[in-house]
Amino acid sequence: MSKPSNSFTPKFNNTYIKWLPELGQVITPARFETPAWLITSDDVSELLQNRNEETPSSAKDWHSKDMLAWFAGQTEQPGAQPFAQKYTGHQFGHYNPQLGDGRGVLLGEVESSQGRFDIHVKGAGQTPYSRFGDGRAVVRSSIREFLASEALHHMGIPSSRALGVFTTGEQVQRETLEPGAALIRICPSHIRFGHFENAFHHGDEDLQRRLVEYCIEHVLPRTHSDFTEFNQIADPSIEQKTLALFRFVIRRTAEMVAKWQAFGFCHGVMNTDNMSILGITFDFGPYGFLDQYNPGHICNHSDHSGRYAFDEQPGVALWNLNVLGHSLSGILDEHTLRTELQNYEPHLLAEYSSLMRSKMGFVNQQTDDRVLLGELLNIMAGNKTDYTIAWRTLSEVQAPESDASPFVNLFVNRTQAQAWLDKYKQRLSLETTTASQRTLQMKAVNPKYILRNYLAQQVIEAAEQGDTQPLKTLYDVLQKPFDEQPQHQEFAKHPPAWSEELSISCSS
Ligand code: AMP
Ligand code: MG
Repeated sequence: MSKPSNSFTPKFNNTYIKWLPELGQVITPARFETPAWLITSDDVSELLQNRNEETPSSAKDWHSKDMLAWFAGQTEQPGAQPFAQKYTGHQFGHYNPQLGDGRGVLLGEVESSQGRFDIHVKGAGQTPYSRFGDGRAVVRSSIREFLASEALHHMGIPSSRALGVFTTGEQVQRETLEPGAALIRICPSHIRFGHFENAFHHGDEDLQRRLVEYCIEHVLPRTHSDFTEFNQIADPSIEQKTLALFRFVIRRTAEMVAKWQAFGFCHGVMNTDNMSILGITFDFGPYGFLDQYNPGHICNHSDHSGRYAFDEQPGVALWNLNVLGHSLSGILDEHTLRTELQNYEPHLLAEYSSLMRSKMGFVNQQTDDRVLLGELLNIMAGNKTDYTIAWRTLSEVQAPESDASPFVNLFVNRTQAQAWLDKYKQRLSLETTTASQRTLQMKAVNPKYILRNYLAQQVIEAAEQGDTQPLKTLYDVLQKPFDEQPQHQEFAKHPPAWSEELSISCSS
């Protein structure tokens, strides 16, 4: 393997390998001879820049030929050490001790001006944890993860990020033969609930403690104002640190799921190995944004029991937190763990109510607001109304004299919609904001553009045929989900009838 020829040298600090060497294996990523960028994110390159260094660098450095050669396994970077992480987890409710990075590799942890980030390649070849898998990823799933993680981020939902997707030049066997690709995933850490399950399963108390210490020292934003739990602990004993960590994960997970529910995002595979310790959306498979509002929507074709249906998500996240709590029971007693878990629901409801109040345009709080919201969701479900379009349209009918028909016409039963709108307008009279202020504020929380499955499907098909322009255009649109973008109205329309036939499964 040759060294890169570029002058741009990222600074690596591989904390995971130093602290947790037994949780994974050093590997050599697969070598792809003819990699080519399919799509890149300037935004994420910028995140990885080290502006503190004397040598000026450009955001484009991360998309250079030299970096692509590294991502594709052709070269090494000084200081980086490719490593496949080992973890376990509960998949569809059953414990699986065999998990790990089966097709992903942590190429290195890079120090940027904005902190340390994992550079992870998904689709980097087989590892000791591949089981029967080929270690590959395909264009379809890589584009889907790229768009989803970036779309969520730009909607304000915590998510892993994506530096880009490259084609590998290989054909990969799935249900059919498909073009191969890999995704460069970026996030502060890839520690999952499953890391803690693995340590607990092996009864390794030293490892359990080291994992907690590692998270506190190197993963959690200790100096960041958001890690308030750490500042509240009385002493830095391992018990207190574990408590702070658990509280943090409970709160952040609750806030993340509340946002999913408010924006209509269905993750699809909430196995505990796909749950990030940072409370960021992670490991995208057969996810989907709601089109019609259907609370029982199952986006994963392989989820026959509906375990991960849209309205099950808050409960599943709590189930997963219980599993994490159990994995910490070597350090914290059961009573403490149970007490902490009781905070999940209040965190979830606080975040959800605050978001839904903003979506309704309410600044102040009234006792019947929940009832009014419940009624709207009910008639949306009964009328199979498009969730995103309904909220966006509601934002536009705020003035007392405004024509209500754009909103009312979204419902089959218009009388029902009009009756609800009349009640809502009465409630608005208790607000001190003007209609135009509300429209502005509501449009900032009711997105116009979401990543609908059919939109992803269209750009994937074009990209598979060699045309990446539709993908780039869609990515541009999704970076400003709350803006009007009049030139891109077609992306905000109701989905076509054929989109209902799309089926997305775990096969990626
Ligand atoms: P996921 O459903 O993507 O969260 O993956 C679950 C587990 O299967 C993880 O341990 C993955 O690394 C592994 N896996 C998924 N796809 C492949 C593949 N094509 N080759 C090897 N391992 C895979
Ligand atoms: Mg996974």
